[in-house]
Amino acid sequence: MISARDAGLVSLAESLSGPAADEPPAASMSVLIVDDQHGLRESLRSLLSSRGYGVEVAAGGCAALARLEQAPTPDMMLLDLVMPDMSGLDVISAICERNLETRIVVLSGETSFDYVKQALTRGAVDFLRKPFEPEELCSTLARVRQALELERRARLAEKRLAQSERLHRFMIDHAPDMVYLLDPEGCFSFINDRAAALLGWSRDALLGRHYSVVVQEQDFELARFVMNERRTGDRASRDVELRLRSRLPAKGGPARDGHAQGDLVVEVTATGIYSPGLCDQEGAFLGTYGIIRDVTERKRAQEMVRYQAYHDLLTHLPNRALFRDRLELAVTQARRNCSRLAVMFLDLDRFKVVNDTLGHTVGDRLLKQVADRLRNCVRAGDTLARFGGDEFCLLLPDLRGHEDAAGVAQKVLERLSGPFQVDDHELFVGASIGISVFPDAGESVEALIQSSDIAMYAIKERGKNGYQFFAPEMNAQFSTLLVLERELRNALINDELEPYFQPQIDLEAGSIIGVEALARWRHPERGLVEPLDFIPMAEETGLIVQVDRCIQHKACSAVAAWRREGHAGLTLSLNISATQMEQPDFVDGLLALLEETGLAPEGVRLEITESAIMREMELIVPKLRRLAARGVRIGIDDFGTGYSSLSYLQRFPVDTLKIDRTFVNDIRVDGDDASIVNAIIHMARGLGLDIIAEGVENELQLRYLRQQGCHQIQGFIFSRPVDRETLRRCLTLGVDEMRRVAHEFSLRDSARA
Ligand code: C2E
Ligand code: MG
Ligand code: MG
Repeated sequence: MISARDAGLVSLAESLSGPAADEPPAASMSVLIVDDQHGLRESLRSLLSSRGYGVEVAAGGCAALARLEQAPTPDMMLLDLVMPDMSGLDVISAICERNLETRIVVLSGETSFDYVKQALTRGAVDFLRKPFEPEELCSTLARVRQALELERRARLAEKRLAQSERLHRFMIDHAPDMVYLLDPEGCFSFINDRAAALLGWSRDALLGRHYSVVVQEQDFELARFVMNERRTGDRASRDVELRLRSRLPAKGGPARDGHAQGDLVVEVTATGIYSPGLCDQEGAFLGTYGIIRDVTERKRAQEMVRYQAYHDLLTHLPNRALFRDRLELAVTQARRNCSRLAVMFLDLDRFKVVNDTLGHTVGDRLLKQVADRLRNCVRAGDTLARFGGDEFCLLLPDLRGHEDAAGVAQKVLERLSGPFQVDDHELFVGASIGISVFPDAGESVEALIQSSDIAMYAIKERGKNGYQFFAPEMNAQFSTLLVLERELRNALINDELEPYFQPQIDLEAGSIIGVEALARWRHPERGLVEPLDFIPMAEETGLIVQVDRCIQHKACSAVAAWRREGHAGLTLSLNISATQMEQPDFVDGLLALLEETGLAPEGVRLEITESAIMREMELIVPKLRRLAARGVRIGIDDFGTGYSSLSYLQRFPVDTLKIDRTFVNDIRVDGDDASIVNAIIHMARGLGLDIIAEGVENELQLRYLRQQGCHQIQGFIFSRPVDRETLRRCLTLGVDEMRRVAHEFSLRDSARA
């Protein structure tokens, strides 16, 4: 960085803004009178003082030279040649040697030609004879004074010019833009530092070369009318975009969309230069003055924004927006040509499992490989897009018939059927493909996409991995899902959700030690709706967060109340969805809820499924640690059905495993040591974890679990989930009474439903 002071700009700016301080006003010229005759000295003093000169006197050559040692030196000197201490000629020589500016006018009685010549050659500017005429003397001094002033002005102007040149040079070289001049032949006659730096040329190497050496070949033609512009004024080029070649490697990594390494995208503003007043006349063209602005970064950013708006950044496939644009176009054409087109909606089977168990990174890599295989299935005019998640959409314009689409779908299924290798994992995914054909399945973009989506759901329901054309009767089925979502939103507003409570019994104590809260929806028309009919949809739409919040609030208040009423050790098990744990305020929200409802953290056990933990392990584990540190307990729900590695169990503070009911259901024979239940119980004991079995329905299962040392039981054998009032009653009863009361409730409840 060059500071303005370094460049001499401060003095320059000052000198540009007014007369400089070193320019003396004409009237205050000073004269030193050097003569050994006292009378003469004094009469000269009074004469010159009266004419406005500043006068000093010296009685001889030595005194004169001594005076000249001090600044400021007098502007002029009236010098006698013959003096006793030193000859006037020697005084002149000494002054010239010292390079002083003082102008010497000789005033002498000695008038021989030789003397005069010597005085003038040594540096005196004029010669006057004694005795002198006062007017002649004064006019001689006035002449000398004028000449001196002129000389000083010229020097000052020269200095200003040099400074001004430096200033302009500074401004041009430090301009953010490239500045150039071309001669009439189009060769560089000037470039600023910026141009040299950006183009990667040294100034000397570029001067004299034709401008085309810095222009991309594709833009030669355009450059011809811009770079060496001959027009002036409004007709000249302004901000014309051009691609230049730089010898430097590109900044910021590889460029996209046709920009090679080192390309510069610039805007050129140029104008012709003509001899003054001769504009446009033959021979008056002097060359071109141009300014080039580097807009490479701006262009890249714009391209990136445009690209991101229309592409999926993971697979680099078009996104939904671009797909819709293309489909819009294709529909218009198909309508005009009375032709057909197909939209294929493709959803991967089993992708969620991979993502949930192996994590997002593996999931993302798998998606990239899937995208690559799909790309190989499409023709040049087709559009393959990723809609997000594991959903892809394919547009096949110009379809001859359904067979064409079926053929492509078949090909896609075959291509995807082979294993995918991601890191050490060999993965298999299938695909469910829904196909809608224009105009049969719909005539608008929306209708076609929706129909293909509906057809895709139909194939998913029929067992996945296949394709299905849309049929109008599918509409009815699909719309129920949409209706359900709308109704659940209303249910949240109308407070139709409540928790049921299922008791957890400790066999050794013979009493209820805890309850699990399970969501129920009292639908105004459908009656009681079970979680499996709305929780999956709530998870898909994100409504689960609100559902959980509502259930948890009610459940915590209930259990806090029961604990205050004398069931102090009672714990509440809450089902926590992955989506809820991923909320940024999950921990604070939950702690606030406990605070608000007055339920101690030790009274709560979070039930988390293995796949929920796996989904965002790094994010979730620290949150669970925070909660555990506050006393909240954490259990693994449906244990044994998810990810089979146990290493994660040590990574965070689990204290309970809940054996999934499918394993309990598998218990058939007394004393079967080889069952999974047996293995889980032993493992839990090894890890020092509590164990609870859910889904216990009969005496055989109960006996078996008791034998294996599992004493905490949840299941229909004791009680189905019951409402708040019933559970409150059950808390006060012995196990047998409780079973009866719960059973009666369930009978009434199912009759109501
Ligand atoms: P879960 O957490 O594994 O809950 C246990 C499920 O097993 C409950 O089904 C319960 O009624 C059922 N069950 C209990 N004992 C037996 C038995 O002996 N035999 C049989 N066949 N089933 C038994 P439910 O209430 O239908 O809940 C289903 C699932 O929905 C729950 O599985 C849980 O994952 C989820 N869920 C329920 N409520 C909520 C909630 O408020 N929030 C969230 N995120 N999920 C919930
Ligand atoms: Mg549960
Ligand atoms: Mg469970």
